[in-house]
This record gives sequence, C-alpha cells and structure tokens, in this order.
Amino acid sequence: MRPNDPDVVVIGAGCAGIAAARALIAAGKSCVVLEADSRIGGRAQTSDVLGAPFDHGATWLHQADENPLTRFLGAHIDHDTVRGRHLHLGDRFATRAEMAEYDRACDAFETAIAQAPSDPDRAVSEVAPQGGRWNETIAHWLGAQINAAELSRISLRDYVAVDLEGPNLLPREGVGALVARLAEGLPIRLDHAVTRVNWDCPRVTVEGDWGSLRAGAVVVTVSTGVLAAGGIRFKPALPTGTMEAIHGLPLGLLTKYGFRTLGADQLGMQPFHSARRLIGPDTTTSMSWIFRPFERDQIFGFVGGSRAWELAKEGAAATEAAARADFAAMFGARGAKLLGQAVITDWGTNPLFRGSYSHARPGHHESRARLSLPLGGGRLRFAGEACHSRFAGTVAGAWLSGEAAVRGLLDKRRAVTDAP
Ligand SMILES: Cc1cc2nc3c(=O)[nH]c(=O)nc-3n(C[C@H](O)[C@H](O)[C@H](O)COP(=O)(O)OP(=O)(O)OC[C@H]3O[C@@H](n4cnc5c(N)ncnc54)[C@H](O)[C@@H]3O)c2cc1C
Repeated sequence: MRPNDPDVVVIGAGCAGIAAARALIAAGKSCVVLEADSRIGGRAQTSDVLGAPFDHGATWLHQADENPLTRFLGAHIDHDTVRGRHLHLGDRFATRAEMAEYDRACDAFETAIAQAPSDPDRAVSEVAPQGGRWNETIAHWLGAQINAAELSRISLRDYVAVDLEGPNLLPREGVGALVARLAEGLPIRLDHAVTRVNWDCPRVTVEGDWGSLRAGAVVVTVSTGVLAAGGIRFKPALPTGTMEAIHGLPLGLLTKYGFRTLGADQLGMQPFHSARRLIGPDTTTSMSWIFRPFERDQIFGFVGGSRAWELAKEGAAATEAAARADFAAMFGARGAKLLGQAVITDWGTNPLFRGSYSHARPGHHESRARLSLPLGGGRLRFAGEACHSRFAGTVAGAWLSGEAAVRGLLDKRRAVTDAP
C-alpha cells in the first residue's frame, strides 16, 4: 500500500467507516481511515466503566434477521423474548390487563401512522392518534425515546420508511466491542481530525493539523450534526442540494446513562426487565430503564428528545440528578438506595457527534437519498447512518451505507451520476 497516497481516504472510524474500509480492502484497494477521536467505533462504544461491558451508544442490533452485523455476533440475548415491561402509572405499576390495553393502543397508534396519507409529507404528530389514556405515552416513547426527537419534528414518510422492528439482540460483549473487533487490522489513524477536504482536483486532498493526504476518492462518514456545524470545510463548497440534505437530517438526542447497583434488592424486576412512566397531566416526560442485563450489577436507561437537549446543556450532573429523580418517582427511597456510581453520556455536546442519530425533518424525506449521491465525478461520497433509508439511525444503516459507498466507487458507471 502507498500509505500517503492511498486509493481512498475514509473519514471517520465508526460503523460506516469500518465497513467502507473492509469493503475497500476486500476489493484490493488501498485506503487510510482518519479518525479524530483517540478510539474507534464512533457512536458504538463499549467500556468497562461500570465494572462490566457498558455500551455508551448503540445497544441493540435491531431487525436482527436482516442486520448485517448479526453474522458477526458472539453470545447475545434476544431482548424481545424477555417479557418484563413495566409502566408506572404515578402511584403503582400497571396491571397485566392494563398492559394489554396499552399494547392494543400501541398497535392502533402504529397502524394509524402507517396507513395515514403521506402526500404531501408532514410531521408524524399530525396523523398520530391523540387523547385517551395511553396516546401521549406512546407518542413520547416512539418520538423522544426511539427516534430521539418528538414526533412533531419527524417526517412521516421518513418515519414509515425506517424499519426498527425486532428481533432486538443485545450482545453480551457490547455493540461497541463487536464493532471494534471488526476494525482489527484496518489502517486506521487515530487522533487525525480532518479539517478540510479539497475535491476540485483529479485527486482529492484531505487536511488536518497532522498534515495532508492525497487520494483518488474520499468517503466522509462523520455525522450530519458535524457536517451541519461546519466541522469539515469543503473546497469547493458543497452544492446547495447537498447542504439542504444535511440540514434536512438533523441529529436528535438520546442520552444514555448507567448506574452501578448497590446491594441485592431487585425491586421486583428480573434481569432485562424494563420500566418507564406514564405521561399524563403531572408527568410530561419519562426516562426509560433496563434492569441488570446479563445479571450484571448495572441498570441503564435513556432520556431523549428536547428534555435530553435541555439536560445536556445543563451538564452531566443535571442529567444524573434527573435520572435519579425519575427512578425515585417509581421506586421511592428503596430505589434511590440501589443506584450507585453513574455514567452519563455526552453525545449532544461532543463536537465529534453533536447528537445521537438522524431523523428527517417534515418535507425532507428525500434527504437521505440525496446525501448519498456521489459528487465530483465520484471523488466525494458521504456515508453513515443518515445515508440509509431503511435502517436510518442504526449501526445496520451505517454499515450498509459504508459498503454501498464503496460499491459506488468501484462501479465507474455509477460514479458519473453526480448530485446537482
Ligand atoms: C445513546 C445511543 C443509543 C443508540 N442505540 C442504538 C441501538 O440500540 N441500535 C443501533 O443500531 N443504533 C443505535 N444508535 C445509533 C448508532 O450508534 C449510530 O447510528 C451509528 O453508530 C452511526 O455510525 P456512523 O459510522 O454513521 O457514525 P459515527 O459512529 O458517528 O462515526 C463517525 C466517526 O467520525 C469521527 N469524526 C467526526 N468528526 C471528524 C473529523 N473532523 N475528522 C475525522 N473523524 C471525525 C467521529 O469521531 C466518529 O468516530 C444509538 C446511538 C446513541 C448515541
């Protein structure tokens, strides 16, 4: 390989960058992956900070039967087979009959969205069922918690196009560790932030404080949050259509937190059980909780959407305090005693990400396809979770988009179909 003049430079060593590098090497091409961080994996990161594997970002392999990462999995559990969902109603947990009623309301909610006319495109909230005992809770769950943004911010067409169904597999080693395993042996240069990409010449030049590299093509996999904030300068400037696509795909925020548990009190929850609160007049937002995965002394959870952004601005201590209060609202002083050392993620404030994962704004459902179009005769391509329609927002989408970008590069006929 020519280390300072590879066939392709890949920017970012997250799932998309790793998949792209693997595909390039498999095709006999030389490549260098430039990563700003001092670790690989991007939004897939596992650490032992709580004494056992803890995923800071991606946690499950969704749609596992078709997920490209499933084939690499080691030990794991199918989370869907764990029947322990608990909904707290303010003074007690829902009974089995109430949970059945809630599940029926969820089915009706999702059916109403799937069957709603989507032309013209509009916000999901405009067609979502309103009122009743459960709908606000369902909207909060599908919006802020699952999509990291309220349903009022999300394009109906984009929402319906994305598959986030089960099986949902939870790897014992962690999704981040799985992804890191797949990066072994790749030519990744850590602490190599890219500040500038010149793509107007026959060979692309990629620059940073560390120096520069020239290559035949570049695959950019940084998040749309980084691109929208101007984290990389492009010369010439990106076409208007590409910029519109980037701004049409903002990152929502899902802040994940984890606690080491103290003592043996199970609070009536089995390993992998989940709990969250009913949204109602007194509770406008809820966090979500998963208990003792793989019988570890850990409880983890999430806060999403605008509440997560508010808390992120206030800092990790505010998120931790809010999480402890949310837990105490369900389990009282007995629960409070269980939560020990905390880890609070900072995806929203970290300039290498600026959020958790993308959604399309209402009216911007075509942005994912648009961002995936090659530029400069195929010299410049974008990849990453935001570039995949069906598995948007996931490691699966990121992986597949990295592979697709390389397929496009290798296929000379497709390279000439430039974005306007
Ligand atoms: C809390 C949370 C929970 C999630 N849960 C799930 C889940 O359960 N299942 C699932 O499938 N997905 C989940 N996701 C989403 C999933 O993690 C992402 O969709 C996926 O990891 C994105 O991969 P990517 O390669 O597109 O981008 P990234 O992982 O963001 O990779 C881009 C890389 O570019 C680097 N970079 C940034 N700027 C520069 C620069 N200037 N120069 C060089 N490098 C740069 C970054 O450091 C990063 O490593 C979750 C995400 C979060 C945050």
